[in-house]
Amino acid sequence: MKYRLVSGLETHVELATATKIFCGCTTAFGGEPNTHCCPVCTGQPGALPVLNKKVVEYAIRAGLATHCTINTTTHLDRKNYCYPDLPKAYQISQFDKPLCEHGYVELESGKRIGITRIHIEEDAGKLVHESGYTFVDYNRGGVPLIEIVSEPDISSPEEAKEYVEKLQLIIRYIGVSDCKMQEGSMRCDVNISVMPEGAAQFGTRTEIKNMNSISYIEKAMAYEYSRQIEVIEGGGKIVQATLRYDERTGETSVMRTKEDAQDYRYFPEPDILTVVIPEEKVEEIRASLPELPTDKLHRYIDELHINPATAKLLYKYKRVCDFAEEAISLGAGVKNTVNLIVGTLYSKLVTEEDKEKFALPVSAEEMAKLVKLADGSKINITLAQKTLSAMAEEGKPVSHYIKEEDLQGVDEGQLESICRQAVEANPAAVADFKAGKEKAIFALYGFVKKATQGKADIKKADEIIKRLIK
Ligand code: ADP
Ligand code: MG
Ligand code: ZN
Repeated sequence: MKYRLVSGLETHVELATATKIFCGCTTAFGGEPNTHCCPVCTGQPGALPVLNKKVVEYAIRAGLATHCTINTTTHLDRKNYCYPDLPKAYQISQFDKPLCEHGYVELESGKRIGITRIHIEEDAGKLVHESGYTFVDYNRGGVPLIEIVSEPDISSPEEAKEYVEKLQLIIRYIGVSDCKMQEGSMRCDVNISVMPEGAAQFGTRTEIKNMNSISYIEKAMAYEYSRQIEVIEGGGKIVQATLRYDERTGETSVMRTKEDAQDYRYFPEPDILTVVIPEEKVEEIRASLPELPTDKLHRYIDELHINPATAKLLYKYKRVCDFAEEAISLGAGVKNTVNLIVGTLYSKLVTEEDKEKFALPVSAEEMAKLVKLADGSKINITLAQKTLSAMAEEGKPVSHYIKEEDLQGVDEGQLESICRQAVEANPAAVADFKAGKEKAIFALYGFVKKATQGKADIKKADEIIKRLIK
């Protein structure tokens, strides 16, 4: 029998606010244990939380960017559970009235993965297991999170990967989080079930907790899909359970089953007032959203006529795009701009993070100056690449590398006479070329390049040479 995979993801994202959700402590990652803390985020009796406005604003940004409706009157709830990473013995979260609801993320195929809800909550502290002891670090306690819950619309590990990547990209674009899975600022709980093709009802699901890498999500899903099918085919039943994924073995194992699932006894948080967001505020946030990644990709391809492969290398990195667009708005041609970025600057921006940060000492103004020289054939592409490479390393302006006299180029008459010399000096290459060996012409290009110290436009030289030897 054929089985369909059904999956929905719960994604936790740490918000990039400077301070925590209910106090003024810093959210900075790392630091000496228990130094980013105060009575509020360590749950001291009598300490009162005050909701950070920025958290609400960031969550609304995420909601609008994923096409959610915003509940402008909402409240927070207590989720009760007792564990040493949570000193109050409850987490302040949202239960029945999340800030954002009913959105979606669109995949390349056009398929939409529904977003059920996005709510705000506080992160818990971190337990560190070491030499037979367990230590607790509350620096992370009270760091603001949004939890993004998807509909069970995901039907393969590939779709899960694309969904998480798209979500990551959107959230980075809008400046709400850096979404670094390896540092834990983005993590996913993956719910999985299988059902026979054509069945009307979903199967029982299992939930793999706290995944912090996209490739592990894919692998864990594939494993769990096969495991569930095997159980069913063997006449067994899937037990609803929370699982953990072992990165080394590539297998899942049970943490707890539904029988020992906790009852969180949610109730409205009495220490925080009802949150009322003026409509104008929502509209103000909507208006401040940047162009979203998918829209940008399509605009690059359809309107700027950038070839799709190049557009895909650019659109993910907002800073790179801002740089390219600014240079273009200053008159630089699209084609040379993007090719120089992808061909030359990217060789200096090796990692994803390098491209993300885009911290090269080249301004859009200088880039535009350089590209305009190439656009006008004042310099050839090789010289443009060399110059840009030096600019990116040394941070000096175009004028430092290219002097007035370099821009004279080589005039047509001069070039014609050099090409003539090239033909005369290379009779064997000319004969080979005429006999159909196209590559033989490179010997002539070499002569021209040498004679002009690389200033000649080789495309023009090619035309002249071919005319001369016809
Ligand atoms: P919780 O895990 O807190 O009980 P929910 O019941 O809201 O929360 O479900 C959490 C996630 O599980 C959602 O992302 C949802 O899409 C997904 N989900 C629900 N039912 C199934 C199912 N049968 N198979 C796979 N995923 C499911
Ligand atoms: Mg869950
Ligand atoms: Zn604090």
